[in-house]
Amino acid sequence: MGDLAKDFSKWEMVCKCGCGICNVSDSFMAKLQLTRTVANIPFEIISGCRCPVHNKNEGGKETSDHLTTESIQCEGVDIRCHYSGDRLKIISAAIMSGFRRIGIAKSFIHLGMKKDNPQDVIWVY
Ligand SMILES: [Zn+2]
Repeated sequence: MGDLAKDFSKWEMVCKCGCGICNVSDSFMAKLQLTRTVANIPFEIISGCRCPVHNKNEGGKETSDHLTTESIQCEGVDIRCHYSGDRLKIISAAIMSGFRRIGIAKSFIHLGMKKDNPQDVIWVY
């Protein structure tokens, strides 16, 4: 049992720079958990919350779904994915769960929902 959702804990979502920030919206975590439950495979979170410094170092845009401050909640994750079968499970579950911002890279899938960012999009890296 995770401390943010059934299958997700703070240590997975916290900013990787070591600053310790972890401010994720409840609606995002609910959607991510639903996706995880529907996909029914383990999710390895590569990147969740990113403080402004870490976001910049990662090359993230200022409007990144990951960007996190005390007043801005993270609404994006990168999930490690190397296999075509897992990719289908994660993407189809994400769409069923209502994600409308999906990024597909060779080694991960981005799921985001910041409402100021474009919706109904799938992009590739
Ligand atoms: Zn940080």
